[in-house]
Amino acid sequence: MKTIGVLTSGGDSPGMNAAVRGVLRAAFHHGLSVCGIRQGYKGLLHEDIVPMKPYMAGGIVHRGGTILKTARCLEFKEENMQKKAADILRKHHIDGLVVIGGDGSLKGAEALYRQGISVVTLPGTIDNDMPGTDETIGFDSAVNTVLQAVHKIRDTASSHDRAAVVEVMGRHAGHIALAAGLACGAEYILVPEVPFSREKLAVSLEEQMKAGRTNSIVICAEGADDGRALGMWLKERTDIDICMTNLGYVQRGGEPTARDAILGGVLGASAVEALTVHGFTHHVVGVERSRVIYTPYEQAEEKRRTFSRPLYDLAAMLGAAQDEFSIE
Ligand code: ADP
Repeated sequence: MKTIGVLTSGGDSPGMNAAVRGVLRAAFHHGLSVCGIRQGYKGLLHEDIVPMKPYMAGGIVHRGGTILKTARCLEFKEENMQKKAADILRKHHIDGLVVIGGDGSLKGAEALYRQGISVVTLPGTIDNDMPGTDETIGFDSAVNTVLQAVHKIRDTASSHDRAAVVEVMGRHAGHIALAAGLACGAEYILVPEVPFSREKLAVSLEEQMKAGRTNSIVICAEGADDGRALGMWLKERTDIDICMTNLGYVQRGGEPTARDAILGGVLGASAVEALTVHGFTHHVVGVERSRVIYTPYEQAEEKRRTFSRPLYDLAAMLGAAQDEFSIE
């Protein structure tokens, strides 16, 4: 193997640049050339391919976003486009590819492998919902961003005797909501994995306020309910002063935490090892119990991190008000 390619795809996440740096530094260490493919699969189809130099790995480890840029590319789902992309990679003498992205990007990587390309995938998403790993690059940073925001919202909620509904990202999973809710001591955590009743939530909130609680934090995963609509409904339904905040894209940006910068670096370097030292051709490079693991695409689903119900129940106990509104 002489030349590897690297691209970032799908939603950006803090730590992607640390992963790119890990790929570059490890590849140069092994005497390889590296081509950066800008804007994910879209850039690949447009041959937006640039030779990477060692200096390009400098000064990026702490930066959010991705220096390679990212994009969504619907046409890449078509087989003829995947074939075209594989031909482009061969034309540029790229013998192995590192894809850094989420679930969708992983499907794109699998498609390229079916076209005869060696391609390993690093889990890069804040949602922590990917197969083949316990943790994704960006998750810890997003949880910490939510935490900082909720601490500020709590100040206002407690000063005004309000309940605050805070909507957080996570797509179809409640990992961010659970981790952030636990860390900030949220009274209520709404996640898609545990059905809840708006009515029971309203009753519980009212009872808690009557019992002397002056403020409450309701962390609402985007997959569980629309935070704004829920807040409006609670305003109508109760006498409680409710405020709503959708944290939105602030969760995707910013400097990675130490944990994500380390994870990015370790997995970036491991991706190069996977292609060169181990000769892997179609693997997710992830972590299991803090150790790097390489899982073939067809087996990765077995290693998808599942929602931790025991942790949720613990959060419910610590949040004190929680178990009164679940509809289970
Ligand atoms: P993420 O990687 O963050 O989950 P997306 O779901 O938008 O983000 O996927 C990123 C890109 O991966 C898509 O724009 C598309 O180019 C590619 N992709 C997604 N699903 C598939 C698929 N089923 N087959 C091939 N490529 C796909």
